[in-house]
Amino acid sequence: MNSENNRIMQRDLEVIWHPCTQMKDHETLPLVPIKSAKGIYLYDFDGNKYIDTISSWWVNLFGHANETINEKIKAQLDTLEHVLLAGFTHEPAVELAHKLVSITPIALKKVFYVDNGSSAVEAALKMSYHYHLNQGRCKPIFLSLTNAYHGETIGALSVGDVALYKKTYEPLLISNMQVPVPKDQSKEASKEALCTLENILKEKSDEIAAFILEPLIQGAGGMHMYHADYLIGARYLTQKYNVHLIADEIMTGFGRTGLMFACEHANISPDFMTLSKGLTGGYLPLSVVMTTEEVYQAFYCDYNEHKAFLHSHSYTGNPLACVAALATLEIFENNNILEENAAKARYIKEKVEKIKSLQNVKEIRQQGMVTAIELKGYEPKERIGIHIYEYALTQGVLLRPLGNVIYFMPPYIIEYEHIDKMIAVAYEGISQLLSKKRE
Ligand SMILES: *Cc1c(COP(=O)(O)O)cnc(C)c1O
Repeated sequence: MNSENNRIMQRDLEVIWHPCTQMKDHETLPLVPIKSAKGIYLYDFDGNKYIDTISSWWVNLFGHANETINEKIKAQLDTLEHVLLAGFTHEPAVELAHKLVSITPIALKKVFYVDNGSSAVEAALKMSYHYHLNQGRCKPIFLSLTNAYHGETIGALSVGDVALYKKTYEPLLISNMQVPVPKDQSKEASKEALCTLENILKEKSDEIAAFILEPLIQGAGGMHMYHADYLIGARYLTQKYNVHLIADEIMTGFGRTGLMFACEHANISPDFMTLSKGLTGGYLPLSVVMTTEEVYQAFYCDYNEHKAFLHSHSYTGNPLACVAALATLEIFENNNILEENAAKARYIKEKVEKIKSLQNVKEIRQQGMVTAIELKGYEPKERIGIHIYEYALTQGVLLRPLGNVIYFMPPYIIEYEHIDKMIAVAYEGISQLLSKKRE
């Protein structure tokens, strides 16, 4: 193959070790070098285009090369590219922090800048632990849900529960405990899971600093979904037992679940909220930990009392990333994004009905702009995800299943014709698995 794609792939494989990848797979599975992107489409070097149905790993909200965001970043580039955020500040960071405080749940009043999702989780865990310490209590355990995902760094991995990523590193992890996630989206499942949560808090709350969860949708855990009642109960119980509630909205934030933040479905205000991914519209790495006045005040004292939160990252609050985030929020302000998304989500729901009838489909679930199709009857080693992924690419669609779960998490600018194509390709890919099985 003398294609341009192939040339770049070969040069890539000489030097790049790719994320979340068994590199040997690329002996047979081609890499897809992307030359440019616009709107919903990714373009490779051989003239093929692909509908990005997973928002480039859940980050892109308003399409690639979005004009509003591009313009703001370009203007910022000629003004201030970066400056440290200790002892210094800049307008994009200030404006963004004010905006975030005004749109997130009521008790969240302070913004701590970080630069990626996992690091935001680390910072939130450290802050929670440190808060209790500053109050004279040592609480060294973190509680999280089974099947959770909070990132890949050691602390974030510790509170996660996806064996594929976690098991190998078990001896390195920090103290953590898991409580069962509600088994489905029913109210009864939430009620049951809350009983177990209360039992654990009753017994262990003296040692638990915080309970961290992904509200409503567990992303990397196969788009598992549960009812908002669980969030209401979890907020009530964590308050009752003096344990922080950390809402990790890194994936669910910025409209993904149908409302701006998943916590709004339960009308709760957590002690910490972590945000990243969609924060910059999918342009630049940036994340924040939002917290309450009460947490902030527990660190506020004379320097020599040694209670300050001495945590930092080099690119904390990068101005280019902050203006990308401001532009993203401006798009929300100037358009009826959530309403339009609701209509698109209803359309997706109608259209995927057809897939439900396939014999290898166990369940289809949806929450806002996330739709998941769970298949049944396959072992992990069959790696059916790769089959669907490769087939979809030949049809001009980027689908990247999680194990036996095929999901759609498209940028909000997706149009109805793209939705039709995305679902038709998923249907065909899933049906092909059936005929393969019969062979
Ligand atoms: C992606 C994700 C993270 C980790 O963010 P990175 O920027 O990839 O480190 C943490 N929590 C949730 C819920 C996520 O979806």
